[in-house]
Amino acid sequence: FNSVIMLARLRANARMLFLYRELADTNRRLEELVVTDSLTGVYNHKHIIERLAEEVEKTSRYQRSLAVLMLDLDHFKVVNDTWGHQVGDQVLVAFADLVRETARNCDIVGRYGGEEFFVILPDSGLEGAVRFGNRLREKLLELRFEDWPELRVSVSGGVAEWTGGGHLLLIKQVDHLLYRAKENGRNRIEAK
Ligand code: GH3
Ligand code: MG
Ligand code: MG
Repeated sequence: FNSVIMLARLRANARMLFLYRELADTNRRLEELVVTDSLTGVYNHKHIIERLAEEVEKTSRYQRSLAVLMLDLDHFKVVNDTWGHQVGDQVLVAFADLVRETARNCDIVGRYGGEEFFVILPDSGLEGAVRFGNRLREKLLELRFEDWPELRVSVSGGVAEWTGGGHLLLIKQVDHLLYRAKENGRNRIEAK
């Protein structure tokens, strides 16, 4: 009789453990979903800003370097108008993949808005970040889409290095530089 109870207890414990693991797994997936942009798989707007705030905090405390890159696809409205929004979506996915492939493991990639992306580059300095931006810009120019061979896309960007102040100031600076890149003819990276 005792061994029957024992066996039932063991089974109940095993079941509990299984359910617990399943719950932990589900929670992990949910946490991932909350921070991810569903179209492109990079971090979403809210999370990339939170990460930037953290990185600025770390950088100011440990006197490290920190650069950020704001990217905006050129004439993306024309891409949508010419090829349709579904193709536009595919371009966004392809571009996000390109950014991830080109970035280092420690770089943090997010979608800031519709066709705007944001990259946090810890310990790479202004010049490293400009090099990264230009490499990305050139790779995108060469990118071809199997189903739409005529489609060409370019990107503009602004790069700034943290020199003090909060993370919002940094966003303001790269936003301004991005605007300048657009004014100066697009398909270029401006840095301060
Ligand atoms: P600029 O070179 O000055 O950046 O020109 P632009 O056309 O890229 O800029 P604008 O801000 O006028 O247009 C952005 C376009 O991006 C318009 C909007 O429909 C498109 N867009 C934003 N989010 C998405 C999306 O998730 N999917 C698609 N297909 N298009 C999007
Ligand atoms: Mg834009
Ligand atoms: Mg644009």
